[in-house]
Amino acid sequence: MKVRNPRTGEFDYAITPASRDDVFALAQRLRSAQPEWAAKGSEGRAAILERFAQAIERHSPAITDALTVDTGRKAVSRIEVEGLPRTIRRWTARGQELIAALDSGDRPSATPGIMLKGRYLPYPLFGAIAPWNFPVVLSHLDAIPALMAGCTALVKPSEITPRFIEPMRAALAEVPELAAVFAYVEGGAETGQAMIEAVDFICFTGSTATGRKVAEAAVRALIPANLELGGKDPMIILETADPEKAAAIALRASIVATGQACQSIERIYVARKISDRFLIELVRLANAVQVNYPDIDKGDIGPFIFADQAVKVAAQLQDAVAKGARILTGGEVETLGGGKYLQPTVLVDVQPDMAVIAEETFGPVLPVTIFDAEEEAIAMANASHYGLSAAVIAGTLEQAEAVGIQIEAGAVSLNDGSLTSMVWDATNSSQKASGLGPSRMGDEGLLRFFRRQALIKQTGKPLALAAYSENGS
Ligand code: NAD
Repeated sequence: MKVRNPRTGEFDYAITPASRDDVFALAQRLRSAQPEWAAKGSEGRAAILERFAQAIERHSPAITDALTVDTGRKAVSRIEVEGLPRTIRRWTARGQELIAALDSGDRPSATPGIMLKGRYLPYPLFGAIAPWNFPVVLSHLDAIPALMAGCTALVKPSEITPRFIEPMRAALAEVPELAAVFAYVEGGAETGQAMIEAVDFICFTGSTATGRKVAEAAVRALIPANLELGGKDPMIILETADPEKAAAIALRASIVATGQACQSIERIYVARKISDRFLIELVRLANAVQVNYPDIDKGDIGPFIFADQAVKVAAQLQDAVAKGARILTGGEVETLGGGKYLQPTVLVDVQPDMAVIAEETFGPVLPVTIFDAEEEAIAMANASHYGLSAAVIAGTLEQAEAVGIQIEAGAVSLNDGSLTSMVWDATNSSQKASGLGPSRMGDEGLLRFFRRQALIKQTGKPLALAAYSENGS
């Protein structure tokens, strides 16, 4: 599979996708090592994962360089790679506490004479299928707590951004105890489908369309599928908000990682009273944003990672303009040195039937709708088949919360935007077509990887043979 460089447009890298047989052989190797991994206990696993964190730190220049080529952006790549050891350490610390606190002693049942003992059995083999927008973060977000729980893990990063796998493997090789239970696999849809057949629990992060296919395959394999899918996050700005501050928050939350983030703000609803000031400031700030071309070390946002997305976003903008929207700034996908770039694009006079409002937009696009009544804004925010996250900005947190609790989304940022990308202990369940299954954030992020086994002990007299006899009934 050829891999395109997002800055040059050239296909300058290639991977050999793992075949179904490769995936099954790998799965067998990991699975056979699982009892020993589980037997190390949470302390033993934490110590090994800590060595992995240190190996990543040693290899971070090579991993960051490869990820920078994968994604065409440097600062976000550095943040991703620097964050991984922190993610590992957060889970090794919290994981040990959580596992120690699991109720595993005998306790009386509500049924007389019966004592119960609960056991927590990790799924033997966990699988993750990851997207290309935050390749390092999203390849490890679920795998680390799964490993900490005692599962073995097979991870398939996206075929669009696979360059970082090689230096990650070099780091992993320095911790042989972990390399025995954790592996990366390269490939696309077919490899992903084979994985679903081979593992005991699948975590998928990606588009809603692919998520449905993953869910169907998981149903056939009768394994749990935890899905983190697309979003169309709304931001409501109430009339009590400071319009200039709100504009800065909205812009940052929309254009982070060039808008290629599931939880980026993609629809803005602003109160009429402050809409003029808000729009003037939003356009002013958007105009000042620079793309990081030609010098990757200068500028604020990178290219589209996946060229098809640039085509899709351009089509959404054309559709909006054809239906009457006005572009206040930005609007043209440019080809610079072979890469595809878009200046932050602010649109007004948008309608619910426009693709830019109805569909996910993976680009720095801010469609702004002006509202008169709060109820109207809430209804428009909820009129989406997505329910990932949302944001409300108001003069006080109380006012923001009063509106926030009426929004159908897994997480709502109050007086800020996209806080889910920074806050890791906020347990939340994605709603509607944005996801399925337990939360990846908070303690549930680890506890979901245990199956429960009940040992049911008879301490009294077992039922007599005649207990269910029909005689004399
Ligand atoms: P995608 O659905 O195209 O691909 C994701 C992964 O699925 C890739 O590894 C791909 O190889 C694999 N895949 C493709 N077809 C498959 C199949 N039939 N069976 C099994 N695996 C298959 O998603 P993408 O374009 O890489 O990522 C962007 C999407 O991810 C956006 O919709 C975004 O909102 C979403 N996303 C969601 C979250 C979240 O936490 N909710 C986080 C990041 C990204």
